[in-house]
Amino acid sequence: MNFLDELYLEKNMSGTSTGTMWLSGKGKKQLLVVSPVDGEAFANITTASTRNYEQVLEQAQKAFPIWRSIPAPGRGEIVRQIGLRLRDFKLPLGTLIAYETGKPLQEGLGEVQEVIDICDYCVGQSRMLYGMTTVSERPSHRLFEQYHPLGIVAIITAFNFPVAVWGWNAMIAAICGDVTVWKPSSKAPVSAIALQKIVAGVLEQNDLPEGIFSLIIGDRATIGERILEDKRIPLVSFTGSVTAGRIAAQKVAERLGKTILELGGNNSIIVTEFADLKLAVPAIVFGAVGTSGQRCTTTRRLFIHESCYSKVKDHLCRAYASLKVGNPLLEANHMGPLIDKNAVKAYRQAIKGITKQGGKILFGGNVLKKKEYASQCYVEPTLAEVKSHFPIVREETFAPILYLISYVGTVENAITMNNEVDQGLSSAIFSTNLNQIETFLSAKGSDCGIANVNIGTSGAEIGGAFGGEKDTGGGRECGSDAWKSYMRRQTVTVNYGSELPLAQGIRFKIE
Ligand code: NAD
Repeated sequence: MNFLDELYLEKNMSGTSTGTMWLSGKGKKQLLVVSPVDGEAFANITTASTRNYEQVLEQAQKAFPIWRSIPAPGRGEIVRQIGLRLRDFKLPLGTLIAYETGKPLQEGLGEVQEVIDICDYCVGQSRMLYGMTTVSERPSHRLFEQYHPLGIVAIITAFNFPVAVWGWNAMIAAICGDVTVWKPSSKAPVSAIALQKIVAGVLEQNDLPEGIFSLIIGDRATIGERILEDKRIPLVSFTGSVTAGRIAAQKVAERLGKTILELGGNNSIIVTEFADLKLAVPAIVFGAVGTSGQRCTTTRRLFIHESCYSKVKDHLCRAYASLKVGNPLLEANHMGPLIDKNAVKAYRQAIKGITKQGGKILFGGNVLKKKEYASQCYVEPTLAEVKSHFPIVREETFAPILYLISYVGTVENAITMNNEVDQGLSSAIFSTNLNQIETFLSAKGSDCGIANVNIGTSGAEIGGAFGGEKDTGGGRECGSDAWKSYMRRQTVTVNYGSELPLAQGIRFKIE
């Protein structure tokens, strides 16, 4: 596999790095990495010990004062170089992501592009860490806000975007003057090692100290929970399931640390009687089967107006029949495998749940068994006819299962169903009717962090703030003013006069 050589990856590797240095770890736990594409064990990683954890944290603490003293545009220059270097490695890294996670090569390449884009974005943002100046109520006083770096930011990431989520967090944190410690998912650690090596090249070229960008691969108990409990880490950015995020939020809150939570979604598309189906059908299919239904923004629920329900259902059944499932490195295939056999088990259980709760499988519903699917991680993309209140529909099953639900009456009825789940990440409406669109976008409309019109639920651009409400956690990452979460805000009042007037007109005199 050439892409592994091109990324300087070996079969046996350390999973802990402080930047350019890799910490050795004889006799520690090994993590065997198996590709869901062909079932091959292609890497063996030595996971971090508690001692390694301490080494990483100590190094990060030492690096912070050095990194924060570099002016923000200078930090932006380092991020610019990371973006340039990523361009050189886009093809092998995108290929590795596809091989390690099972997502199509196009999506793997798109993921690397997303990190490149965020690097470019951050170069500009590094000159715009602006605070607000306002007027003081007191004469000869100035009142303003400024932002300072926080310190060590921990980034805990999910398997399904093994490099992009690091990019959203680490690049913004870097221009803000923070140093980062990254704990990737143990289901996709090799992409993280590859990325760390790419970044290391830039650190070396610029003669930067260890501890600015660290990587630590290890299990939940040894590393994950230690991060959550560690008071030296003022901010933990956590991406993952609602269940794990709840634990993370509680543990960090216990020590009054800050979190950015990017948790599960249960995203829906509303197709009204005024929808343009030429736009709606491909958007629905991509939203439901992209990354094998393993995106936080995957389309899971489809609310179709009863007047066009049969038509949309027919279109979708035809489209699903034309989908090719197979090796995601081959461009002809639309969908690759699920991440592992546990995910296949969850898919199976959900299929059982659908029929048990009174739903009907319209297409798919099976685990694929031919020789080309020997890794046992391939499943059929699935369409199911259900009712919105079924318990299974309220859950996020991380698999390509799309629920079709007919609605009657006005768009408000579909909006109510969109909003009645616990999660609140992404939502979309397909309509050409201004009244319906604006209702969906209004305060009584979608309650999600993302609300799209005539495009699907997935595929967010980096320029906007990304995140969701309710059980999705309320965090925001990427563009807009998301950078503010990675800094501490300071309100400053300067008195340049010769009197000492107190606020609210309070009088206080001493002899
Ligand atoms: P997961 O919750 O199993 O794991 C996510 C990360 O958290 C991993 O690195 C894992 O090791 C770590 N972790 C889990 N329990 C922990 C604990 N107790 N202490 C410390 N660390 C812990 O999720 P996953 O299966 O890797 O990813 C899928 C989930 O992530 C889905 O629910 C998906 O919607 C969500 N996700 C959300 C976003 C978003 O931006 N909202 C993006 C990607 C994925």
